[in-house]
This record gives sequence, C-alpha cells and structure tokens, in this order.
Amino acid sequence: MLASFTAHLNSSNRILVLIGAGLSASSGIPTYRSASGFWRTFSDQQLAKKSAFEEDPILVWQFYNYRRQQAKAALPNPAHHALAELAARRPELFSVNQNVDELCQRAGHPMGQIVDLHGSLFRVKCFDDACGYEEENHEIPIIPQLSVTEPPGVLDSADYNSAQSGVSIEDLPHCPKCKVGLLRPATVWFGENLPEAKVHQVDEWLQDGKVDLMLVIGTSAMVWPAAGYIGRARNAGARVAFFNMMEKAAGVARPEESDWMFLGDAAELVPKAFEGFLGVDN
Ligand SMILES: [Zn+2]
Repeated sequence: MLASFTAHLNSSNRILVLIGAGLSASSGIPTYRSASGFWRTFSDQQLAKKSAFEEDPILVWQFYNYRRQQAKAALPNPAHHALAELAARRPELFSVNQNVDELCQRAGHPMGQIVDLHGSLFRVKCFDDACGYEEENHEIPIIPQLSVTEPPGVLDSADYNSAQSGVSIEDLPHCPKCKVGLLRPATVWFGENLPEAKVHQVDEWLQDGKVDLMLVIGTSAMVWPAAGYIGRARNAGARVAFFNMMEKAAGVARPEESDWMFLGDAAELVPKAFEGFLGVDN
C-alpha cells in the first residue's frame, strides 16, 4: 500500500490537503473533550458562539485565553513538518486547514498555499461585523487581567461566576477602529458562516484544473463545505489518502477501493507515508 502511495505522490502536482484536529492531537492541543480541569466542564457549543459572548464576554475571553495559551505552548509535530516540506516542494499543493492553532504555519508551511478555513486563535476582530476590524494578535494574555487560565479553586462551571473573577468588561480588549465594540477571537463560531473569501479561494483552486491527489488528515470531514471537497476532488480526478485514528473517522467520505487508508496517529503516519518522497531525514 505504501509503495503505491509513494509512486502516486511522486507523480502528483496538484494536491489538495484537508486538515483537521487529528493533525494537532499529538502536539498536545486539547480537543474540548480532552481539556483539563475547569474548562472540561463546558462544551465547545456552550462557549464558541455569538450568544455566549453577548451573555458573558468575560467567560468567553477566559476560555479563549486558555485555548490561546495551550496553542502557543504547543509545538508542531513531525506531521506538520512533513506536510510543510511537501508543500514547499510541490508549489501547486493547497491546504484547507480546519485547525485554528497555526501549527502548520509555525512548521513553515508556505503561507500562500494554506487557508485557515475556521480562522485562527491568533487573530481577533471587532464583535460588530459591520465594523469589520480584524488584526493579528499574539499577545497572551491579551490583557494582563487574564493571566490566570483556570479560576483557582473552582472545578465546575456551575459554581463559577465570571463577574467575581476580577476581570471587568471594561478591561476586555476593545476595537481600536470603532472604539465601541469588543474584540473577539477571529475563529468561526457555531452558527456562523465560513469567511466567504476563503471558501472562494478553495473553490477557485478546485476549478483550476485536474486534481492528482487529495490528503485527508485527522478529520472526519463531517462538516460542510469541507465534507464536499473530497467528492469534488474525486470528480476532478483525485485519488484520496486518509490519515485517521479509525476507519470510521472517514465519516461521510465513504472510502473507495482506490483510496489509501492510513490508520493511527497522524504525527507518525504522515512522515512515514511521505518518507519515500521527502527522504528519510525529513
Ligand atoms: Zn469595531
């Protein structure tokens, strides 16, 4: 199986990569379900949405401060590096990234060949969409009052009141453009549309010609439009390689006979699968 994949990779130029949480799992980026301590008692659906921010922006910022700190402390793993190297050697490769941790970029993935479909933890924007302000922001904590990532002594969300945490709404970062709106993380929240320009970028790449190969790494590809990219790549001629923990993680993609299915930790599988192309040192 590996030999046939290597042969196909060697002859592939237009490669579409779909990236999900499984790529960053062994870098220690916690999924919500594996979050530790206090934040474990919340679900992502509870906090990653506009109504949650409207109700309690302090709590949502505390949560994102925790996530930003985790992502900043994490290091790209061998799979991020192997993918970055492959992208550098295959300038027509294009990555659709559903992760918000920027680990691909930190591994050196060429910037023009990757789109962060779900935004980034290291970008913030005005809560008022009409204002439109957005900036890169690697300041952690974003305000000094958020230096504590887990409320001390509180283990359950039910016992927590953000109003007593010593952070006030006035402390939270405000938009420098309109001076009225609060800044919020520029990640795509539940119920929000994906950024149109980014979706358009993927569409354009797909319409640009034949696709040789599609790599689906660490994602069940259950969410649209990402779920549709596999079918569209197939229609454009691509063979598909899945890198997932479990076969059923291929989700709606319905693997076909000509696909490659690499099962296990992406951090081990991806470099091994690329080895025949990149060489052993990578
Ligand atoms: Zn604004």
